[in-house]
Amino acid sequence: MIILVINSGSSSLKYQVRDTGSGERLADGTVERIGDSTHGGPADHQEALKRVTADVEVVLRGKTIDAVGHRVVHGGERFSEPVLVDNEITRAIERLSPLAPLHNPANVQGIRAITARWPHMPQVAVFDTAFHRTLPEHAWRYAVPDELYTKFGIRRYGFHGTSIGFVTHHAAALLGMPAAGFTGIVAHLGNGASITAVRSGESIDTSMGFTPLEGLVMGTRSGDIDPSILLFLSREGYSAADLDHLLNREAGLKGLTGHNDMRSAVDSAAAGDERAELALHIASYRLAKYIGGYHVAVGGAQALVFTAGIGENSWQFRERVVNRLGALDLHLDDAENRKKSSAPRQISTEESAFPVLVVPTDEEAAIAEATAAVVAR
Ligand code: AMP
Repeated sequence: MIILVINSGSSSLKYQVRDTGSGERLADGTVERIGDSTHGGPADHQEALKRVTADVEVVLRGKTIDAVGHRVVHGGERFSEPVLVDNEITRAIERLSPLAPLHNPANVQGIRAITARWPHMPQVAVFDTAFHRTLPEHAWRYAVPDELYTKFGIRRYGFHGTSIGFVTHHAAALLGMPAAGFTGIVAHLGNGASITAVRSGESIDTSMGFTPLEGLVMGTRSGDIDPSILLFLSREGYSAADLDHLLNREAGLKGLTGHNDMRSAVDSAAAGDERAELALHIASYRLAKYIGGYHVAVGGAQALVFTAGIGENSWQFRERVVNRLGALDLHLDDAENRKKSSAPRQISTEESAFPVLVVPTDEEAAIAEATAAVVAR
């Protein structure tokens, strides 16, 4: 099937056209500055979609799109798998907007733009939270009064689920087992970063929580901090918007080094920059602690998997992390770890207590496959 994959943000619309038969990517692109028509951006998502279809029609050369798959950030407690979109589903996604105020409204605009242009086009919503719907209650509950959950839906949801599900599947295949046989730890380390404990193919714990802010040190997000810091700062005059900006946009690697990019942190540290060196220590130490915790959570991991921009490409960061895992008896194969490759591979030696893998993620492929599967049903 030919699937148009849409990742609709508030001011940008990313797309790919995938052929799920061959796995080929036929087209991809981004329309930016939606709502900024004075600077040449489209007026709205409807306009943005016109640009996308104009681009796509050229490469399709007469072939037609069979279905559209949407990346939807928040599926709340309702959505545990991809669904065919109708009016009721669209409204349900919209009702989840308080949980993802920047993302879900934009996802809904993407869906409505497709409906307006192709009223009969099958559309499928694929949720970032869905893979984590298997979390047991002791993992998703925060230790706060019950009404915060019942009144506001405050609980751990987890994100990056489409990627983690895809990587779990491919890691299991590399180890010669079905996904349901996979018990291990998957670290998705991109500009946003999270780590997930997978037991028998299901997510049983994950480091992102009520929002993507919790957990690891990220490009611009702090990850875990003492919540009292927010109370302290609010008494010092910081507004909610200030704190949001501070912790989501100015923290993490950016806060520690001035740059959000792992490459520059690694390069600066290699050149002797002490701040960058410290940032890498903090980020790798925090990640190693999670790996130890999740090794316990899954009852003994059978694999550790790295994925996404940093996980796939930064041998230096992987080395820093695995070097902290001596207590788990993990050993890197230096040559394999340093090798440049886009194939799923093992980077640990045979002496390692369990394999360390690098498995490239491909969220668009996962969304296209899920969309084709729903439509075929
Ligand atoms: P993503 O969000 O998955 O695109 O990942 C973005 C992150 O991956 C950024 O921090 C990049 O610096 C990092 N990254 C990409 N390529 C490399 C590389 N070759 N070495 C180190 N970090 C990289």
